[in-house]
Amino acid sequence: NGFIELGLAPELVRAVADLGYTQPTQVQRKAVPLAMGSGDQDSTRFIDLMVSSQTGSGKTAAFLLPVLHTLIKQQAAAEAEERAAFERAVAEAAERGEPAPKRTKRKDPTNPRNFKAATPGALVLCPTRELAQQVAHDAIDLVKHCRGLRVANVVGGMPYQLQIAKLQNADLVVATPGRLLDLQRSMQIKLDKVQFLVVDEADRMLDLGFSDDLAELNQLTSQRKQTMMFSATFAPRIQQLAMRVMHDGGSSVQ
Ligand code: AMP
Repeated sequence: NGFIELGLAPELVRAVADLGYTQPTQVQRKAVPLAMGSGDQDSTRFIDLMVSSQTGSGKTAAFLLPVLHTLIKQQAAAEAEERAAFERAVAEAAERGEPAPKRTKRKDPTNPRNFKAATPGALVLCPTRELAQQVAHDAIDLVKHCRGLRVANVVGGMPYQLQIAKLQNADLVVATPGRLLDLQRSMQIKLDKVQFLVVDEADRMLDLGFSDDLAELNQLTSQRKQTMMFSATFAPRIQQLAMRVMHDGGSSVQ
């Protein structure tokens, strides 16, 4: 399976195998290793990418796979850290002859009493509701073997309360810009933990007048994030958008 060579987490290799993908497509072969920081998992500096790709090229997995891979690695590291801290606390209690501490239970996120603003680590922006739904669907297929990674879809037209409930604990949010900004302004979502920002079909984003919304969302997310812009063309107006939202205007992948 050609996906193993890309260095992807085993959960993702299993998911693509379940989907019947045997070899990465060209855009996946080029973009995935670059987006993963060429496999340097300790690196906190990921490069921004501008990728020219057509629908049907496998572009969706080209951005979802590296983002999900890094989220999986970060989640595993956080869990290991939590386990180690608990074991230290147990050992220290034993030394002092005190009873062992109990693990703190996670609050039930589906209980409205526990609702708090969602703080996703990754954000995919799509120009239309249909595309956002398709991308979210693909992401859900790819996380099926990942325990504890959640995907939420934020689009206009969905009842507000249902949307807020679905956002709880989401790690990856797939959204159209307008509805996402509504949720941000009503403080249902905080974007400062976003470390991966993907702009899908950037050319259609501009056609639909989302340029200012994208700039605003760029400002609201962490300035240390990795941005990936996918577009059918590299026309000058796309390059201008890239200059607005990416460090150094991004590295190009054709
Ligand atoms: P996209 O360009 O993201 O719209 O993807 C086009 C289609 O190709 C979708 O139906 C994907 O499920 C499929 N696809 C993506 N990557 C692969 C792959 N490596 N091998 C086979 N099919 C793929």
